[in-house]
Amino acid sequence: GRKFFVGGNWKCNGTTDQVEKIVKTLNEGQVPPSDVVEVVVSPPYVFLPVVKSLLRPEFQVAAQNCWVKKGGAFTGEVSAEMLMNLGVPWVILGHSERRALLGENRMRYDPGCILCNMFLFVGDKVAYALSQGLKVIACVGETLEQREAGSTMEVVAAQTKAIAEKINDWSNVVIAYEPVWAIGTGKVATPAQAQEVHASLRDWLKTNVSPEVAESTRIIYGGSVTAANCKELAAQPDVDGFLVGGASLKPEFIDIINAAT
Ligand code: 13P
Repeated sequence: GRKFFVGGNWKCNGTTDQVEKIVKTLNEGQVPPSDVVEVVVSPPYVFLPVVKSLLRPEFQVAAQNCWVKKGGAFTGEVSAEMLMNLGVPWVILGHSERRALLGENRMRYDPGCILCNMFLFVGDKVAYALSQGLKVIACVGETLEQREAGSTMEVVAAQTKAIAEKINDWSNVVIAYEPVWAIGTGKVATPAQAQEVHASLRDWLKTNVSPEVAESTRIIYGGSVTAANCKELAAQPDVDGFLVGGASLKPEFIDIINAAT
């Protein structure tokens, strides 16, 4: 079976004091053992070392992004090599906030194009991060307009294809299905809506990658997940966990981790 996965994306939030408080709450929380649920929290870069050092050892950390290739003269960027050097095992790539606000929906990384170098391509990022030994939470998801136009599956398949074209080994990849209309809106996908897309994504992997990858790859749901709605979502056969934003900053994150059982 696929081990349940719960990620907490803290986004651009927190002070040193707040971060220490959140970690304390996590450390004191009653949760299932690590062979039942994999827990990964993703603070802003600057807090990664302190969170990693304070966090209970069975919980892991993720960066929220990294540079597309080897580090160098890229002011303001953080490379995959640096994350590995710090012992950060995971990275979130292709989050919709980065795709929408920071141009990451670009179709390709072109080393000859200054603009393309700035506005990076998610498939290249995933491939490079994996090549350096990072594990990747790769985000896909449609906007409200795309859903209403009936193109949800076309969009998430295209986003997944852009990644599939660049990688061979899926063993260190988790796919996060995060419908843009559900992120930070309080409008969670219904369990049926989530299950429909997750099952279609798994079917896409089966057809376009392999039955083994389709069977073993975790597909987690993100978008307004709370303690109140997580159980029903977790009960869906193709929902293998969550990527939690707002609620991951609160004690209810512990309840969401417990949706694993
Ligand atoms: P919310 O849980 O705040 O809707 O955010 C979801 C998300 O974007 C996680 O990456």
